[in-house]
Amino acid sequence: MQNEHAAPSGKSSHFDVLIVGAGPAGLSLAQALKPLGLRVALVEQSSRDSVAQPAFDGREIALTQHSAGLMKQLDMWARLPTEAISPLRDARVMDGADPFAMTISHQDAPVRPALGTPSELGFLVGNHHIRKAAFEAVAPLDGDVLLAGTTDTDTPMVGTWLFAGQAVHSVATTGDVASANGHARVVLSGGRTLTADLLVAADSRHSSTRRALGIAADMHDFGRSMLVCVMTHPVPHHHAAWEWFDYGQTLALLPMNPCPNTGLYRSSVVLTLPSSDMQAVQALDEASFNAELTRRFADRLGALKLVSTRHVYPLVAVYPRRLVGNRLACVGDAACGMHPVTAHGFNLGLKSVEALVAELSRGRRLGRPLGDAAVLARYERAHWLASRPTYLATQLVTQIYTHESPPARLLRQAALRIGQRFAPFRRAVAASLTGA
Ligand SMILES: Cc1cc2nc3c(=O)[nH]c(=O)nc-3n(C[C@H](O)[C@H](O)[C@H](O)COP(=O)(O)OP(=O)(O)OC[C@H]3O[C@@H](n4cnc5c(N)ncnc54)[C@H](O)[C@@H]3O)c2cc1C
Repeated sequence: MQNEHAAPSGKSSHFDVLIVGAGPAGLSLAQALKPLGLRVALVEQSSRDSVAQPAFDGREIALTQHSAGLMKQLDMWARLPTEAISPLRDARVMDGADPFAMTISHQDAPVRPALGTPSELGFLVGNHHIRKAAFEAVAPLDGDVLLAGTTDTDTPMVGTWLFAGQAVHSVATTGDVASANGHARVVLSGGRTLTADLLVAADSRHSSTRRALGIAADMHDFGRSMLVCVMTHPVPHHHAAWEWFDYGQTLALLPMNPCPNTGLYRSSVVLTLPSSDMQAVQALDEASFNAELTRRFADRLGALKLVSTRHVYPLVAVYPRRLVGNRLACVGDAACGMHPVTAHGFNLGLKSVEALVAELSRGRRLGRPLGDAAVLARYERAHWLASRPTYLATQLVTQIYTHESPPARLLRQAALRIGQRFAPFRRAVAASLTGA
């Protein structure tokens, strides 16, 4: 993508807000903006079909109670298939061959005055289900929202317009925020030009929109990859998640509802290895893969059996130096690309949507324009405070639990035992898992 200043050819349409990226964060933002009665454009490089019917991608997303509440407000939660929502009651953290597990229970979670102690820390939902629910919330089947393949008018009506199957070719912002004529301008790969008062980058942690507008980002490549898939197993998981910092590998288990066909216990299984070692595991045939994963889990779950496709993600964490620019706000992974180990990525993505819409609404009540620098600065501050400590704490956890020297091993095991005994620590972790 280029930072383009030349006048583009082809048709041009003006919107109030232009969101680049119709992933879960971009779609959630489009939905959250609806009460403001704006003209919103969503630009997505994938096809409309792949946004409307997203394919299984292996990710089982741990959602906090707070995120579930937001998804209810955004009319997304009720659209999830009931059987796709698995309760997450407890979380167990283990180290090496040590049988001890630090356990964070739902009973450690903060008591909410109206509801008492929650019976779960959060919920597990497939990423493809979340994306589908978000799309259907933005484009309800009754068709009263203007979600079309494209629009040919210069001044589209209030509603949400999807430009799918079109990447952003170039992006620029003109004028500063005080200029009445300033706007963000995006040229699509098909040659069409869209302008908007506010541009939102929701185009992943490697956001090319963010980069094209000159915002630098700090990246940490862990040199590791994460394999995710669904497996059944004979030993019950009791709806407890496992994070097992073993030596030479990290394993995780995300407990799902039983297999609908066989009734067997079922989990999302996560294996993290140096990227150079992952290729060999990926290449195993199904029977060898089952045996390999059963061995890697030291038979603690019995014989594991693959029941889904396998997906591998390289692990790169990204934090931008700024979360806003001239007429630009970053949301979702474009604002904070987390290591998945603490399961906060999309939860923070929803928080970014919540914070941005709160500031835009407040700005409107005060008569400020959408791309107003003071409004965007307030958003940046709020989301930096919400995301930066979690990002740094997650980086610290990944650093501590990848060191394997004898003193580091002792420290790792001692930390879990101290954490177990120190109730305020357990309560703090439980609060972070519930999103309290
Ligand atoms: C293995 C794994 C496990 C995870 N587990 C959890 C978890 O338990 N809990 C949790 O909260 N989070 C988790 N996450 C993180 C979560 O998946 C992400 O935070 C979330 O998907 C980010 O959503 P997004 O919409 O910001 O970005 P993305 O999902 O990356 O979507 C970006 C969209 O922008 C589009 N796009 C990109 N560039 C362009 C362009 N130039 N023009 C047009 N469109 C563009 C892409 O096609 C895509 O549709 C996990 C991630 C991984 C990899």
